[in-house]
Amino acid sequence: MSWATRGLRLIVLLAAAVSAGAAPVVAPDPATEDAQLAALTRRAFDAPEAMLAELHQRWPTHAGPGQPREAAWLMARGRVLLHAGQTEAAEAVAERLMSREDGVDRSWLLRALALERAGKPAGPLATRALAGLDKHCPAGDEKRAVREQGCDFRSAWEALRLLQREQYAQGSFAIAEASARRSLALARGGDDKHLAAISLGMLAISLQAQDRLDAARAELHAAEIEAAGDLVAGARVRNYEGAIERRARDMQAARSAFEAALLLADQADAPHLAAQLRSNLVDSYMHLGLLKEALAAGQRAMPVLQRFGDRFYERSLHHNLAVAHIKLRQFDQARLELARVGEFGTDPGDLVLRARELRELADTWAEAGQFKEALTALHAERALNDRANERNRAAALEELGRKYDSAAKQRDLDLLARDGQLKDQQIANQQLAQQVGLAVGALLLLSIALVGVTLVRMRRAQARLTANQSLLRAQSERDPLTDLSNRRHFLAVMDQRTREHPAEGFEGALMMIDIDHFKNINDWHGHAAGDAVIVEVARRIRAAVRDSDLVVRWGGEEFLVFAPALPGDDLAQMAERVLRGIGEQAIDTPEGPLRVTASIGFASFPLGGTAGPGLHLHWEQAVNWADMVLYKAKAEGRNRGVGITAVEAPNADMLAALLQDFDAACINGQVQLRQLPGPT
Ligand code: GH3
Ligand code: MG
Ligand code: MG
Repeated sequence: MSWATRGLRLIVLLAAAVSAGAAPVVAPDPATEDAQLAALTRRAFDAPEAMLAELHQRWPTHAGPGQPREAAWLMARGRVLLHAGQTEAAEAVAERLMSREDGVDRSWLLRALALERAGKPAGPLATRALAGLDKHCPAGDEKRAVREQGCDFRSAWEALRLLQREQYAQGSFAIAEASARRSLALARGGDDKHLAAISLGMLAISLQAQDRLDAARAELHAAEIEAAGDLVAGARVRNYEGAIERRARDMQAARSAFEAALLLADQADAPHLAAQLRSNLVDSYMHLGLLKEALAAGQRAMPVLQRFGDRFYERSLHHNLAVAHIKLRQFDQARLELARVGEFGTDPGDLVLRARELRELADTWAEAGQFKEALTALHAERALNDRANERNRAAALEELGRKYDSAAKQRDLDLLARDGQLKDQQIANQQLAQQVGLAVGALLLLSIALVGVTLVRMRRAQARLTANQSLLRAQSERDPLTDLSNRRHFLAVMDQRTREHPAEGFEGALMMIDIDHFKNINDWHGHAAGDAVIVEVARRIRAAVRDSDLVVRWGGEEFLVFAPALPGDDLAQMAERVLRGIGEQAIDTPEGPLRVTASIGFASFPLGGTAGPGLHLHWEQAVNWADMVLYKAKAEGRNRGVGITAVEAPNADMLAALLQDFDAACINGQVQLRQLPGPT
């Protein structure tokens, strides 16, 4: 090459560099470029438009259509587009990725991220993406895989983050822990401290959910070290810390953590993250009774979350603001916020979180004396829990089926293995000629016998499976923990009675029992102790009522007693026996003896007073009345029973109206109650 041509080339290259803006003349090595793209994508969380422009400007020729680096750049673009809320453009990028052999897994991941953004379950697509990505990132050897096998650890990490989040939301904490550990290994394999810090935070959260608080704190500490010098990572780690303290019910510590996180996010000029943190602060402030601060933080965060299209946080912020408004007795504003929550709908992956919110809502309404709204929220929570339980039951059935399937498969394999051995033998025997022919025949016969035996065994296993399934179905009306009837059974009994006497209203006594401050038992002594308490309380209730009474595990630590024919006075005595039975003596648990008390709402139907035999109630309404007085018992300080003695109502409509404003009805004497103090 002559000097003249060399000079010309240099000029051409320089011109190309100028026209491509900041793009370097020599393509950086893929790992460096990936790190730059990751930083840009990360920044897009808080500044999507700017990053979109930067990406556009920097796009190099070696990432043009069909070029080797196109997929990496497309992925970055897709993710930035999602942050910018341009979902259709992102979908187009996903399609383009799909058309490249090296882009298929990332295309699935991009679509999963789009679902997450839309507040829809992203798990299945994330799993699909991970299945492909995982092939290049064998577990245990991540470092080498990243260097030599083209392991796209960041995409695999992202897929795992999506999965972990969903597993956590569904209450599969041990599985969520495993996902967090795997994502940590990937982050470490790629020497990415930012991702490692977040993985450690995810890990800490999953550990705490399994009551391993010390281990959680240790991982959190490791996360802080990993995040040193990285403001955004630091803010995210503090955010995890806040969530952990909140779950441990140390609201002051939660608040400090969220505030520290907010400081870091503001320093990092990260408005979106800051809005998420403010939204978390709303909850802390509220629990600390700082209602004005809560509202102020929430109102500041809301427009930012809306601008960034952050549906997940926006929804939970509407919920938190609703709770704050109820506490401030601004009921109309609360209803407005709740209507906004309702607009988001409930995803199957969200049931646990949503149920917890509804429960908080019910308690807040009840504290504010708004019992009707409390009941509505409570019933919505129960319906949701029913759905979750139904899902768990279906999963259990499936699991059982799978277990037997795999046992059957194992037998098939054994059979095949034996078959293989037999063939080897035959080949060897052919060489030994006819003398051994007899032996081969014998062996063949033996193996046929073996096949026969195995088939019989398989058939037996199948029969056991069928028997097990019908057993499971029969058991579906029993609560496995306490061996009491469950709600399904109660419903069946009620249906039966309604069918037998369609003209009559509900008759009999109901007693709704709820253990007081049960959450504290779980939080302070662990779920095993909580379970032991539930089992023993169930036993004590059973012992305090008559054999002919139906005791139902109504919900987590709620029980319903149905006594078909019991006069009012006897009912009060029974309630007193239950109160004493539960509260008088400590309960032995693996964590030592614990004293627990319960609150009871009870009523006998038809209701006494003018609402007597003439006014028929459906059994669901009867349960509502019992629920209502249980709430009263809780509101009046717990460890007590509240029963209905008389109700004045001329007709069914007026009777129903009394439930709408129960407090007023009690004050003006339309509803008369009796109080039973619990044991001291
Ligand atoms: P309150 O006095 O108002 O009733 O307060 P509480 O703490 O008892 O509140 P709540 O009724 O909401 O608490 C129910 C808790 O029971 C929430 C849930 O985590 C827990 N729980 C539900 N089912 C089970 C279970 O089977 N085992 C254990 N250990 N805990 C359960
Ligand atoms: Mg309770
Ligand atoms: Mg309860």
